[in-house]
Amino acid sequence: MTPPLLRAEAVRKSFGTNEVLKGIDLHVAEGEVICLIGASGSGKSTLLRCLNLLEQVDDGDIWLDDQEITDPRIDEDEVRRQIGIVFQAYNLFPHLSVERNITLGPTEAGGVSALDAKARAAELLARVGLAEKAKAYPDALSGGQQQRVALVRAIAMRPRLLLLDEITSALDPMLVGEVLDVIRELRRDGMTIVMATHEMTFAREISDRIVFMADGLVEESGPPEQIFTAPRSPRTAEFLARHR
Ligand code: ADP
Ligand code: MG
Repeated sequence: MTPPLLRAEAVRKSFGTNEVLKGIDLHVAEGEVICLIGASGSGKSTLLRCLNLLEQVDDGDIWLDDQEITDPRIDEDEVRRQIGIVFQAYNLFPHLSVERNITLGPTEAGGVSALDAKARAAELLARVGLAEKAKAYPDALSGGQQQRVALVRAIAMRPRLLLLDEITSALDPMLVGEVLDVIRELRRDGMTIVMATHEMTFAREISDRIVFMADGLVEESGPPEQIFTAPRSPRTAEFLARHR
């Protein structure tokens, strides 16, 4: 077995007196697609934010390969170049064109020339069916188109790991499918993905492993067929019964 790409060990995080993550262990193998499921408030977003160093963990540690990224001496920007994240909404800079939204990171932080960054943006936009939108501004795009651009912007940095936090939750149901299609394609390309989602059918289809979180702990994790057809924990069963 190759060692995991990412390891979170006994991660704890509180906001004031509210302990949101109570000792999370999560290993992510290269090329693996993991779906985080669980009730609202169970800590999914906080965990993703900790993995991306947007929140500082109180205890425990997180490793990317052989580098401890929770070490205070780490270069956080360098870590974030390797771990991309896309949120539910408000992902794009409204005052920048679609193309500039995508090329900004690679040119300003990734050491890529403007010409190369534009060429890659064009190629990626074409792959998500948005070739003609390079010069458009975000507010001229549908929510689904904006999320596809947000995904392109994240992968333009060539991250080793992509974190997705409920990226279809704010979308009109009509537009969810086009965003899920992009995730399917990223999976085919071998991208390593950890995503929080409420789309249970999609989670079952796309993931190598489901991680069910409850009250700041991993209640159960396993292959989707096992979790969906034979959950070991009554809490998992109860959650799934309510989210068909
Ligand atoms: P989920 O994504 O599973 O719905 P979250 O990680 O968003 O769960 O939230 C877990 C808990 O942490 C909630 O009780 C939420 O109110 C709290 N929380 C999240 N972020 C903050 C914050 N920045 N400040 C205070 N409390 C927070
Ligand atoms: Mg959340």
